[in-house]
Amino acid sequence: MIRPIVKYPAPELEEICIPVSDFNSDLKELAGDMLETMYSAPGIGLAAPQLGVNVRLIVVDVTAGQEDGYQLVLVNPEVAEHSGRQKEEEGCLSIPGITAAVERPDWVRVKAQDLEGNEFEIEGNELLARVLCHEIDHLEGILYLDKLSPLRRDLLKRKIKKLIRAGEW
Ligand SMILES: [Zn+2]
Repeated sequence: MIRPIVKYPAPELEEICIPVSDFNSDLKELAGDMLETMYSAPGIGLAAPQLGVNVRLIVVDVTAGQEDGYQLVLVNPEVAEHSGRQKEEEGCLSIPGITAAVERPDWVRVKAQDLEGNEFEIEGNELLARVLCHEIDHLEGILYLDKLSPLRRDLLKRKIKKLIRAGEW
């Protein structure tokens, strides 16, 4: 089921999410809804708090569903190791229509669990590293806006306020 995406500046996006301990059917249903919602947007990543659910679950597909074999569901993900740096334009489904250049590691190794609770690790570079870091940040209540210089952040926040006032958000 496609669910509405929570938009900035909703308080749900600023909360630290709770670790998943029950690998039950509700979790599988949430993951399914997150994938469906991400693909319909379309987007390449989505975190549970973006659907207003305060748990540590993210979904990622760097092809936005255009190719098979790239779909990832990560429960309780953690960046175990990272290296390098990249700075590219980044967006967020909770901050629609706006992008900014954000600095991220160029490579990450992420530890996570699958929907059955089995532990696994994945490595990613470039876009995959960026998306993983972006989505894992969501679980800490961190948005990419928080990664920008104060000047750039204030500029974007003012732009968003204007859009909200105009009823275009
Ligand atoms: Zn986001």
